[in-house]
Amino acid sequence: MPRLNALIAACLAVAFVIAAAASPIAAQMTAVTGMSEAGSHPVTGIAGTPAPLRLAFLNDNVPTRRHIDLPLSESDATLRVPSQVRLLLFSPHPDDETLGAGGLAQRVLKRGGSVRVVWMTNGDGFLDGVRSEFEIAEPTDHDFIKYGTMRQAEALKAISEWGLEEGDAIFLGFPDGGLHPLWEAHWSVSKPYTSPHTRRNRSTYPNTYTRAVQYSGATLVEQIMGVMREYSPDWVVLPDPRDHHPDHSATGAFVLEALRKLRASGERPFSETQAFTYLVHYPAYPISQGWMTSVNRPSAGGALSHGQALNGTQWVTLPIDSDELEGKRRALARHDSQAEPLGPFLKLFMMHYEMFGRLRPSQIMEAPLEFAARYRKPNS
Ligand SMILES: [Zn+2]
Repeated sequence: MPRLNALIAACLAVAFVIAAAASPIAAQMTAVTGMSEAGSHPVTGIAGTPAPLRLAFLNDNVPTRRHIDLPLSESDATLRVPSQVRLLLFSPHPDDETLGAGGLAQRVLKRGGSVRVVWMTNGDGFLDGVRSEFEIAEPTDHDFIKYGTMRQAEALKAISEWGLEEGDAIFLGFPDGGLHPLWEAHWSVSKPYTSPHTRRNRSTYPNTYTRAVQYSGATLVEQIMGVMREYSPDWVVLPDPRDHHPDHSATGAFVLEALRKLRASGERPFSETQAFTYLVHYPAYPISQGWMTSVNRPSAGGALSHGQALNGTQWVTLPIDSDELEGKRRALARHDSQAEPLGPFLKLFMMHYEMFGRLRPSQIMEAPLEFAARYRKPNS
């Protein structure tokens, strides 16, 4: 749907210019010009139907009114990265790792630490992307899988820009666009979820972390716990459960549930593991800091919930230096298949800072339970 994509791009470009005039942060972004083709972001689509949600997510990030911008100095604190941190970075789709924490990953490596990136999905449910990439109106399951394979390769190229290798990458191979349904209706492995795109109820990709595992909420938590046990991270970085994209909010909840279970069991070193969240799809994010007021209102996860656990999350800022920003831009450019549909949106994230919600231990323990209480149906 190239015409629609062009319209989205034009709207975003206009919004960006408006924001640049109104916001000192956006003005800072205008200094970052001449960026190369950026990657894009997979958004849920159902095979054979348009993906109306996609527009909604994109528009979420575009400010509809002027926000009052807080100077960075008031945004709580600066994130300091100690030496030799073991960072475990969770990414719902290929490209989120770069958008949300590409600067942090590079900083950790620069400080002698290590980074492992976990992709929940291969981004194979992006209907418009598949149509555009292969120039076909009605993709088959094989087309979606071919697209996911391509996006895996792009993800590896992206992190190679930071010096990471294939051994630093984990692909869980769970269904793009299907993570939230795992919470809601497919928690038990006796009710596995089948992707409407790949038409599989388990990953068919050869390099999947555990290929035989069927898609369910319970199995996904086990997979994440397995990754955490193997790697023993000091810091876990995850999508904020309040992100408006269901794959993102569900990823955040799954990661916190895994960490909660490890902490509850008393397994070391998880009592010391710190958790940081990041946003991608949230109204006005990252253009203006008006989001900070709304995100800290009571909310358990997703756009429509009203929980309490994440209320009052401390947001910390990581200033990104020019080399790190260039590393983010190079990584984003490696997500080549995504350049056409959503480039302007993704360029919004090429800024001289990243922001993270630093969770308190009580939030790690309570947030996933709250999410489950709201979204997990009985006997799911
Ligand atoms: Zn994403």
